[in-house]
Amino acid sequence: MSSLPIHTEFGSIDALRRALRDHKISALEVADSALQAIQASTSLNAFLHVDPDLTREQARAADALLAKGGAPALTGIPIAHKDVFVTRGWRTTAASKMLANYVSPFDATVVSRLQQVGAVSLGKLNCDEFAMGSGSENSAFGPVHNPWNPERVPGGSSGGSAAAVAASLVLASTGTDTGGSVRQPAALCGVSGIKPTYGTVSRFGMVAFGSSLDQAGPIAHNALDLLELLDPMSGYDERDSTSLESCDGAPNRPGRIRGEFDTTSAQFSAAGAQPLKGLRIGVPSEFFNNGLADNVAQAVDDALRTCESLGARRVKISLPRTRLSIPAYYVIAPAEASSNLSRYDGVRYGHRAESYTDLADMTSRSRAEGFGPEVKRRILVGTYVLCQGYYDAYYLQAQRVRRMIANDFQQAFAEHCDVIMGPVTPTVAKRIGDNREDPTADWLADIYTLGVSLAGLPAMSIPCGFSADPAPLPIGLQIIGNYFREGQLLAIADRYQQATDWHQRKPGQR
Ligand code: GLN
Repeated sequence: MSSLPIHTEFGSIDALRRALRDHKISALEVADSALQAIQASTSLNAFLHVDPDLTREQARAADALLAKGGAPALTGIPIAHKDVFVTRGWRTTAASKMLANYVSPFDATVVSRLQQVGAVSLGKLNCDEFAMGSGSENSAFGPVHNPWNPERVPGGSSGGSAAAVAASLVLASTGTDTGGSVRQPAALCGVSGIKPTYGTVSRFGMVAFGSSLDQAGPIAHNALDLLELLDPMSGYDERDSTSLESCDGAPNRPGRIRGEFDTTSAQFSAAGAQPLKGLRIGVPSEFFNNGLADNVAQAVDDALRTCESLGARRVKISLPRTRLSIPAYYVIAPAEASSNLSRYDGVRYGHRAESYTDLADMTSRSRAEGFGPEVKRRILVGTYVLCQGYYDAYYLQAQRVRRMIANDFQQAFAEHCDVIMGPVTPTVAKRIGDNREDPTADWLADIYTLGVSLAGLPAMSIPCGFSADPAPLPIGLQIIGNYFREGQLLAIADRYQQATDWHQRKPGQR
């Protein structure tokens, strides 16, 4: 394909970094070729905002740093942000008509941290409105298309983030995961994604959906590239009230995950960095239920076999409340959303109706016009479960279930296994429009990702195969770790990727 950007020749962040540092190529050349590729791929609808001037400005600054020497780790690396991270200078819409013209006066912490280490932003990525959805079809600006097959969804809500990486428009992107929105689109687009432990990455400047669940995470082609982004993204931030100062005794700051990654690998270094050697992999029986498609079950089983051949052991475990994660999540997340979204009243910012009779009428018209159907559904559900009289029956009950789900994971880790593996999604990517008549069908397909979010655990998705019919659509393997074990997860994924090449396949090249 003639429009493939220059960075695709390097295949990894580290390889591109070396070329930039050796002055074999400039950050501006990299940025310009990515901008061209984005221009040529508008049919994917992965990007909502591109601003060549801003991108080139960042690239020129990167080149100046590279010329001086001692440039930080991601200097000149092309990335892009999900449009729920606020950005100074670029619009931030959260894929909603409500914020169609919103420009933030400040950058989200994730955005400024990546900029501080030199990453060059190519723009803002499409997603489900306010990150509510599983297919990136709920965007007010039209659906995102899956680069493997444009008739299919890329997953969601971080669908633009996964599609942009899969189509090689950027080397990596940021996403957010409230109930699976980094892992699920990564799985359906054949790329890698990680959701870290809740509280390790700052939520400051992330448009809030379900605040006790929302967590940012990167999407890239492979585990090492994820490490390159996740490590500098994470760290304590006093502007986020749930940000953690320490993780298991270690200060929460950039370097923590890289340090743990090194230890995990070094621990086994006598055998040549083998994080899978002797590893007990818990396989929950509830993840292999009736709803799981045969091709996904087969690919995940093959991946587990590969892990066994690398020294791991499979252990059967049970996460008995897996099914309850759906009702619990779809009570808690909408409850928090209904509260978070009450700020869009048409007064200070956001869409305001043109004609209205009084203040109350202005608020209700502005909200009726600004929010899309799925967002309204969540606000209605959330308001209902928080009503006096229903609060105990729904919200409080869901909180109790949430605690039990977290305990189930803790019991598995304490008694049976080091990590847990299974599918990310029950099927490969569905057709755009498939669940239009029944929005709850999408909710049910979140079954394998919601429990992790309710428990606040880290988890990732890496490519582990493709469907033969319809061909070829990617399948993801989910790897779940105990709190703060991001480094271990990445080391395991890296080892798996040294032994397989699923993560190297690109749409149109198979
Ligand atoms: N699909 C889930 C939902 O619609 C998860 C979304 C997310 O993680 N942002 O709520």
